[in-house]
Amino acid sequence: DLHSLNVCAIEVVADATARVLPLAAGLDDALFEHDGQITKREVRALTLSALAPRKGELLWDIGAGSGSIAIEWMLADPAMRAIAIEASPERAARIGRNAARFGVPGLAVIEGGAPEALRGLASPDVIFIGGGGSEPGVMDSAIAALRPGGRLVANAVTTEMEAVLIAQHARLGGSLIRIDIARASPVGTMTGWRPAMPVTQWSWVK
Ligand code: SAH
Repeated sequence: DLHSLNVCAIEVVADATARVLPLAAGLDDALFEHDGQITKREVRALTLSALAPRKGELLWDIGAGSGSIAIEWMLADPAMRAIAIEASPERAARIGRNAARFGVPGLAVIEGGAPEALRGLASPDVIFIGGGGSEPGVMDSAIAALRPGGRLVANAVTTEMEAVLIAQHARLGGSLIRIDIARASPVGTMTGWRPAMPVTQWSWVK
């Protein structure tokens, strides 16, 4: 009845310092703590699109750097699972801080070098290789660990890693793309395009 009806008005005041996270992948690099080793925003958006997260899947992010790829994977849905594998102790610690700041403490961080560090991990639905992919055994171990029907995406900035991806594409198929991004920036009093290093990306379904 009307007498027991409680009307309550809540005013939500925006905090000017609050971080507002958009729902799409490709978050601003500045939202992550990083040391320069980070997959840049535009490339990260294309990478998440290629990884194609589905509810509840487990990702291995090999050579996770700042953790930006695994974190955006986790943000896709509360049911997402991910393991970040990072050889540098300093960066592995940073991944933990970034995960906490983004509210995804469920992201597991393994400090260690692939392929050794991959041994014994829960078998993944999807693998991203952002570092270490040209080291002996890393690509083979990743492919072996992936479940049938699982997806693998690998990015190359160096010619050594690009050579690995070209060889895998020739051997196994999948799709190979090259991502060239340039940003407009000041040239004296005018503006010019500053190209980022091109990224070669191989995507494959096992
Ligand atoms: N995708 C990351 C950037 C990766 S930079 C991001 O968005 O932040 C590549 C990373 O791979 C570096 O941090 C480097 O320490 C790591 N790495 C290189 N070889 C590795 C290996 N064998 N195992 C694990 N990590 C490795």
